[in-house]
Amino acid sequence: MKQPLCVKCRKTMSCHHTGINVIEIARSVGPYAIFSGDLFACTGCGYEVVPQYADLPIAMHHHTNFEATLHDVIYGNIRFLVSVERGAEIPENLKEAVEIMERAVQSATSGV
Ligand SMILES: [Zn+2]
Repeated sequence: MKQPLCVKCRKTMSCHHTGINVIEIARSVGPYAIFSGDLFACTGCGYEVVPQYADLPIAMHHHTNFEATLHDVIYGNIRFLVSVERGAEIPENLKEAVEIMERAVQSATSGV
């Protein structure tokens, strides 16, 4: 796969972090699956995207270890992202952890 292109600054994006956890939130289920993806950042403006995931999830909601894995991802000291299906919302019990992570990410990238 070619490197993603930042439409805003016309620069290629480089892989910034491999194996970042992405929690998918489905409208009907809530937390549905956890995937590992690669985070790319624009070399010009710092804008970030996850253009691709692994084919298989780390965990799915019907797996017996899903809640434990979800807890480890959210409360471990590892960066994660949340993908929210259209019409879905982040569950109340996860909102605080997600907001803390987003603030940490924004402060880490604000100097780019
Ligand atoms: Zn850019």
